[in-house]
Amino acid sequence: MTLPRKDLFHLPDGMIYLDGNSLGPLPKSVDGALSAMVTDQWGQHLIKGWNVDDWMGQPMRVGNLVGRLIGAPEGSVTMGDTLSVKVYQALSAAVQMRPDRKVILSDSGNFPSDLYMAQGLIAQLGQGHELRIVAPEEVADAITEDVAAVMITHVDYRTGRMHDMDAITSKAQDAGAVMIWDLAHSAGAVPVDLAACGCEFAVGCTYKYLNGGPGAPAFIYVHPDVIGDIQPALSGWLGHDAPFAFDLDYRPATGIERMRVGTPPVLQLTALEAAMTAWDGVDMAEVRAASIRLTDLFIELVEARCPELTLHSPRDGDNRGSQVSFEHENGYPVMQALIARDVIGDFRAPNLIRFGFTPLYIDETDVRGAVDILGDVLDNRLWDDPVYHAKGRVT
Ligand SMILES: *Cc1c(COP(=O)(O)O)cnc(C)c1O
Repeated sequence: MTLPRKDLFHLPDGMIYLDGNSLGPLPKSVDGALSAMVTDQWGQHLIKGWNVDDWMGQPMRVGNLVGRLIGAPEGSVTMGDTLSVKVYQALSAAVQMRPDRKVILSDSGNFPSDLYMAQGLIAQLGQGHELRIVAPEEVADAITEDVAAVMITHVDYRTGRMHDMDAITSKAQDAGAVMIWDLAHSAGAVPVDLAACGCEFAVGCTYKYLNGGPGAPAFIYVHPDVIGDIQPALSGWLGHDAPFAFDLDYRPATGIERMRVGTPPVLQLTALEAAMTAWDGVDMAEVRAASIRLTDLFIELVEARCPELTLHSPRDGDNRGSQVSFEHENGYPVMQALIARDVIGDFRAPNLIRFGFTPLYIDETDVRGAVDILGDVLDNRLWDDPVYHAKGRVT
């Protein structure tokens, strides 16, 4: 297998798409699968689709496809809801596993929604839990014996800095804490081996590197050794042991299915299931090697061509996910000017321009092309136009 596999994706002519870390492009396998699902399944089978097309089994089926990319054993991952909801499920289960401890440890590089979900859970529990937020480089030392759960994101969404999963997991477990990894910027970006890592929980989304489309469902992994002890906080009927018995009392399903909540998003799962075929035969080690090559090249070329930009990502590829950020005091209009020239990255407040590198469909020619246009935008102050200063609702 060779990378890239650009022919598997719809990529608009002339566009250099360096934002697959935020929303992956449309895989060509998706259009046909979605329209067949709509026409043949929903259209013709209607409610029979739950059985004849196995819509009900889809969260587990797709979970196994995602699981393969993150080293999770068959049957240990399920799909549904959004990542924020999956964070809540993992965290509520984790704190319940350590009733004598009151600290949830996270870091200031975490994505705010994860922290907000922790704050909401703490308020809901009303048991005096504390969310302790430390600098990313201080996480390992902050794992003390009062920590119930360590909840951090493997790859920092702004900087691309990557935590050492195995080392932090061991540290957490040695101190008696439960480990939750958010793999939002890892699944499909860097090799992850959950079975080897041994963490209790992992969660992530599928609209970023997995190309499942806007609003694609999230995934949750729970270690097979602990899933049986978990009492789901979001005890919906499809996480029940026998949903169609319609018992009045909740009784969790065996295994990871207890992390399901309600009716699965069948259209989104159909898109994702088809999108996952882009990974057939792909070795994550090969993706990683290509990603490091592309990001190293990008950094080298940008630093040579654009001295007014300051690198805001780890320089050493081993400590970096699959994205690179640079700082510029006018980062927002710079990115808008780039987007207007069909180089798509994104902006993260207060002043970062961020570029994602996705070896399935990005190659060295794209990297060189993007740097040429970036150089032009900066050299000629093309960003200094009022139209590039106006902020949209989504930045
Ligand atoms: C993208 C991302 C989210 C987004 O959560 P949604 O509920 O899917 O909107 C949450 N956490 C992290 C770490 C992310 O990178």
